[in-house]
Amino acid sequence: MKENIKDKVVIITGASSGLGEATALYLAQYGAIVVAVARRKDRLESLVKRIGSQGGKALAIVCDVTKREDLERVARETLKAYGRIDVLVNNAGLMAQAPLEKLKVDEWDKMIDINIKGVLYGIAAVLPTMQKQHSGHIINLSSVAGLKVAAGRGTVYSGTKFAVKAISEGLRMETAKDNIRVTTLYPGAVESELKYGSSDPEASAGIQAFYKEYEIPADSVARAIVYAIEQPEDVAINEITLRPTKQEF
Ligand code: NDP
Repeated sequence: MKENIKDKVVIITGASSGLGEATALYLAQYGAIVVAVARRKDRLESLVKRIGSQGGKALAIVCDVTKREDLERVARETLKAYGRIDVLVNNAGLMAQAPLEKLKVDEWDKMIDINIKGVLYGIAAVLPTMQKQHSGHIINLSSVAGLKVAAGRGTVYSGTKFAVKAISEGLRMETAKDNIRVTTLYPGAVESELKYGSSDPEASAGIQAFYKEYEIPADSVARAIVYAIEQPEDVAINEITLRPTKQEF
């Protein structure tokens, strides 16, 4: 049990698979109360059941992060159930890579809505509570694609992840006075469903070959998130970049 994690109320968006699911399981093991958020109800319910059977506490809330009112409801239901919000992990995301010239404008819109607006709506839902508490921690998932652009197919996804970097940095500076910690993660290739997000057959094949060669397990990111949360209250881990050791990009 890690004392600085035990009983913390942690909302995780995108908890129905991949990094979010692994993080939920890991945090619950250390005694956090997990609020698992995503669209797929069945996946959330089986996660909550699994956490319960291991002696942990979790609540599933179905939510579409592209709808501000859904995230506001998540914050309300969390406060009703547990009385506080200690951590938000803004993790829900979509990677629909393709060359710009394929004009997959619907997928550009989806990525902007989920990866940027979803993160902002998450912040909007918890910020007033964290300011009132004079404590809180917002953890945003960017990517190594938020630090550099994969030529030929990664432009819009990178655009959304660069935006997460900018939003996190602005949030960090603005909320230091409120005793709110802000952490941005920049992971490389990690095993999850993310690699299946593109409808462009060539880009998709390229991404899947890349992941096959490089991906590391999702609990590598879960451990980094635990590390950021478990620090003493006066220490904020602002940025973590982690890659598979052999990944250059
Ligand atoms: P997954 O595809 O496995 O998980 C994405 C999660 O986001 C799912 O739980 C999905 O749940 C949820 N989600 C998608 N759209 C919405 C929506 N509109 N509303 C609510 N939830 C939504 O991918 P990862 O676990 O890999 O991705 C997690 C985060 O990590 C993303 O932000 C991604 O960009 C980032 N990342 C991942 C890397 C990797 O290599 N895996 C590397 C760098 C960053 P549901 O469909 O049930 O709603």
